[in-house]
Amino acid sequence: MILDCAIVGGGPAGLTAGLYTTRGGLDNVVMFEKGMPGGQITGSSEIENYPGVTGEITGMDLMIPWPDQCQKFGLVHEMVNVTSISKEGDIFTIHKEDGTTTDAHSVIIGTGSSPRRVGFEGEDKLFGKGVSTCATCDGFFYKGKEVAVIGGGDTALEEALYLAKICSKVYLVHRRDTFRSAPNTIKRIYSTHNIELILNSTPTEVYGDNMGVSGIRVINKEGENRDIEVPGVFTFVGNDVNSETLIQKNGKFLCEMNDLGQVKIDLSMRTSVPGLFAIGDMRQEAPKQVVSAAGDGAVAALTAISYVDELLN
Ligand code: FAD
Ligand code: NAP
Repeated sequence: MILDCAIVGGGPAGLTAGLYTTRGGLDNVVMFEKGMPGGQITGSSEIENYPGVTGEITGMDLMIPWPDQCQKFGLVHEMVNVTSISKEGDIFTIHKEDGTTTDAHSVIIGTGSSPRRVGFEGEDKLFGKGVSTCATCDGFFYKGKEVAVIGGGDTALEEALYLAKICSKVYLVHRRDTFRSAPNTIKRIYSTHNIELILNSTPTEVYGDNMGVSGIRVINKEGENRDIEVPGVFTFVGNDVNSETLIQKNGKFLCEMNDLGQVKIDLSMRTSVPGLFAIGDMRQEAPKQVVSAAGDGAVAALTAISYVDELLN
């Protein structure tokens, strides 16, 4: 059997694609997700910017109903790690870690991206409990409080400026004494009164308990330690798109990627390969929000429905 559509990744983007493809009339749609569906937002302790969802709600709470809603319309979830996606003629093949393969007329890929971890002690344990990689999402929880930002690129500097408007003080910790960011952004950093620069310094440990973070220890080039007592630590040391499944036997990507390693798409979520659509955090210029990932899923599903319709009729 050849699927009408294979969805790879079951975050907000993939689940929405699943809802719209099945409800829109495609038969035999399978969503391949290596873990529990829901995506990276399930690791967030609170989400308050998903439209229409008010009150205190965790990322997990938000995502729990999504798979049930999709299954009602016929979406099948196969819990497996997809190792690669290939295409021969008009048929795509999904290669899986368990050694099996599945063929499909179209593929919607939404495998997301993974913020790089810095690698200091306590970072994983306190992730989502005071350690965050999303200022737009979590910054408001530290309104009027002091926070630390780790990194020296465009993202770290822009997010530090964003946080400086909400928080009483931002400690910007960078391992060198120059930034890799736009000159104007650097200028704004230096002229923002409540940003304190902690340069030539690397975090070694974040500490706290199950209730949250209470501080971060950094070490400078001279080997001196400094404890910064903050309830929030934001790390922005780069992001990796989860694009391994698009790598072919010849080492090249199945579709065109941009210089940042993100999948190039058009406004209908089409990649450079007919029948392959890319959505959510992995696509170029992704706003990296649940609502936009879901929006991408809906757009890709509608485009995939037309594509399969034309292909088979
Ligand atoms: P993801 O959510 O990353 O989902 C991708 C899915 O693909 C994952 O479930 C993964 O297991 C699966 N997958 C990956 N590779 C494979 C493979 N090879 N085989 C099978 N499955 C695979 N956004 C907001 O709008 N508001 C917030 O408050 C907010 N808070 C956040 C807090 C934290 C701590 C984090 C980390 C992110 C937050 N975000 C927030 C961002 C938001 O989570 C992402 O933008 C969104 O989840 C992207 O959705 P996605 O479906 O593109 O990717
Ligand atoms: P980035 O440019 O790769 O910067 C990552 C930063 O984190 C660097 O300053 C790096 O230090 C630091 N870092 C990396 N690993 C670290 C570690 N283990 N410990 C401590 N520090 C570490 O990533 P980004 O800022 O996310 O930007 C990614 C790309 O998007 C860039 O091309 C950027 O220009 C672009 N971007 C553009 C805009 C914009 O145009 N407005 C906005 C955001 C991002 P070093 O400097 O010492 O290497």
